[in-house]
Amino acid sequence: MTGQRAALLDRDGILNRMIYYPDPGVVDSPFTPKQFELTEEIGPALRTIRAAGFKLVLVSNQPSVAKKHLTMATFRQIQAKMRRLLAKEGIKLDAEYYCFHHPQAKIAKYRVDCACRKPKPGMLLDAAKDLNLDLSQSVMIGDGLYDVLAGKRAGCRTILVANLSALLSTKMDEMDAHPDFVARNVAEAAAIVTKLEPGVRTY
Ligand SMILES: [Zn+2]
Repeated sequence: MTGQRAALLDRDGILNRMIYYPDPGVVDSPFTPKQFELTEEIGPALRTIRAAGFKLVLVSNQPSVAKKHLTMATFRQIQAKMRRLLAKEGIKLDAEYYCFHHPQAKIAKYRVDCACRKPKPGMLLDAAKDLNLDLSQSVMIGDGLYDVLAGKRAGCRTILVANLSALLSTKMDEMDAHPDFVARNVAEAAAIVTKLEPGVRTY
């Protein structure tokens, strides 16, 4: 009996929009429920992926609690809003995995060199065990090269959602993090997923 196929989804930048913080001038995760908004077209994209026979599994690094940007209670409120907004789009995730660790965490209990923080594949491997996934027939979709690396290490195909640039190509070379596909947005990523043939490597 072979396992299930899944789309392993990054959260920030894939499901929801990144937030620009003018002070100190960085792009980061939403720190409040109010800031949490879905990305354009994510509802139709996830419906397409699910209709193609893929489970929907979130695998997300969330060091914001460890860095004291928000409390775990606020994180849970954001999670509840995410589920509410996705439900409005007809989407229920099959599972959610989070890594709350960070090597420079301000809170000691999160300052762990864990096996789950992407680019390590721990969350994907846990998901495979819990949900009986066939990772070789699954796909990791993220907007960062850590997502690509985690996906590759878990034996998945990988889709990077990004605008290709000379800088990004250089980083891919430096990190040996070349995705199987690059999509400009989640709608394009969903279209790629529907063309992934089971059992056949298409690249
Ligand atoms: Zn972790």
